[in-house]
Amino acid sequence: MTLDSPRTAGFAEPALHAQGLYIGGDWLPGGGIPVVDPSTGEVLAETPDASIGDAMRAVDAAEAAAAGWAAMPPRARAEILRRWFVLMTEHAEDLARLISLENGKALPDARGEVAYAAEFFRWYAEEAVRVPGEFRHTPSGAHHILVDHDPIGIAVLITPWNFPAAMATRKIGPALAAGCTVILKPASETPLTAYAMARLGAEAGVPPGVVNVLTTTQPGAVVNAMLADPRVRKLSFTGSTGVGRTLLAEAAKTVVSCSMELGGNAPFLVFDDADLEAALDGAMIAKMRNAGEACTAANRFYVQSGIHDAFVAGLTRRMAALRIGPGTAAETQVGPMITAKAVAKIDRLVSQAVARGARVTTGGTPLPGPGYFYPPTVLENVPLEAEIAHEEIFGPVAPVYRFETEAEAIRLANDTEYGLAAYVYSRDLARALRVGKGIESGMVAINRGLMSDPAAPFGGVKQSGLGREGGVTGILEFLEPKYFAVQF
Ligand code: NAP
Repeated sequence: MTLDSPRTAGFAEPALHAQGLYIGGDWLPGGGIPVVDPSTGEVLAETPDASIGDAMRAVDAAEAAAAGWAAMPPRARAEILRRWFVLMTEHAEDLARLISLENGKALPDARGEVAYAAEFFRWYAEEAVRVPGEFRHTPSGAHHILVDHDPIGIAVLITPWNFPAAMATRKIGPALAAGCTVILKPASETPLTAYAMARLGAEAGVPPGVVNVLTTTQPGAVVNAMLADPRVRKLSFTGSTGVGRTLLAEAAKTVVSCSMELGGNAPFLVFDDADLEAALDGAMIAKMRNAGEACTAANRFYVQSGIHDAFVAGLTRRMAALRIGPGTAAETQVGPMITAKAVAKIDRLVSQAVARGARVTTGGTPLPGPGYFYPPTVLENVPLEAEIAHEEIFGPVAPVYRFETEAEAIRLANDTEYGLAAYVYSRDLARALRVGKGIESGMVAINRGLMSDPAAPFGGVKQSGLGREGGVTGILEFLEPKYFAVQF
């Protein structure tokens, strides 16, 4: 089945991107999975529902394309990635609208995501030609060590709904740069953006079978079948820690290499000596990008006693002033949550905290439908034992806790099984760095509310994940070192 060129009008039209599984360069039709607009609760389109057989066809296609893609000169692979970056940039407004429709995020957030997502293709176009190697003497001086890097093999990529474009490009970019072929399984809530990007990839010159995309109502069975196939050598997953654990156990059966970008519970520390306005600006970004539906979202605000009340007052004013509405409406700053279930979870966490003594300074109750809306909310006096202090909120709720000393702040920040991101605000850079060193997390933002950058290694420690995406190390996740012991 052939589709019109993506350059035809209506590239942001949901139905255009729900026409088939993308396998081996072909679009295989079949309906089944409704994609819902979270701003209205209405069905936007139905995407196909892949069976295990379809997944095996995708592995066949990835295998058929693997040798040719790996053998292509890195510069040629880089040029294709670079063209894909250009096409995403040219279609930025349509892609942003599509993201906003299926995910609900406000258009400015969606535009930011498209720019961020496209940048992974540009970055890895540049990295494709810089794959490192090694040549050294053995300590004895008698022999030589030569280390080359091979593409790791066929990679299964699984992405969540909160960044439908960026979580895909953050994996596809380094995988293709490394010479791997891939099968992408996007989240069921937000598959349209992935299919749209696959069309742009084909136009950019990605050969058939190098990138395959499939949606399914049975992710466990379909992904397990692919992991059991010995041709699949890599699993790169972004999503919840719970599903990540299940997949690690499954991948162990065939010893498949795993990269895991999992959940977060980011602390946001504000010391008395912080620049208050800068801390509030940063707090709004760290909390409200994507309406709080980000793995790096500030989940716990720890504020030192001397600045606590002014911080709560300032945060309350800013949160209360945000305009809520459908993601695609021009004036919207905060869109809906992804599902009614997400709203119910946020409501439960807030209600439980309030029942235990927290005070709501703004927001605090779900908004009536249609659509799945929860208002920007600030809580103070939150007891440390409340569930909200330990669970990923994934919504526009800012619980604020008071602390006295630096040691206490570090202890509170580390009181979690997660370790993805942390934020520190202080004018004393030595202190901020010392505190950052003390926090068990893969990333620390100092006097900044945003840390994501395609040029930086993104990832977590503890139960937030394994491995890093982006930066110069991201490509290594898709490469296998090969050591040659050499005598000459
Ligand atoms: P999720 O429920 O874990 O789903 C993520 C993906 O896994 C989806 O594509 C989902 O497919 C698939 N999946 C579900 N069960 C599976 C199974 N048994 N086997 C194989 N695949 C399976 O997570 P989410 O709710 O979409 O995303 C939110 C979570 O992602 C949060 O915890 C957030 O912190 C995390 N996240 C982390 C990062 C990071 O970089 N560390 C970035 C973004 C998000 P279906 O949609 O079909 O169920």
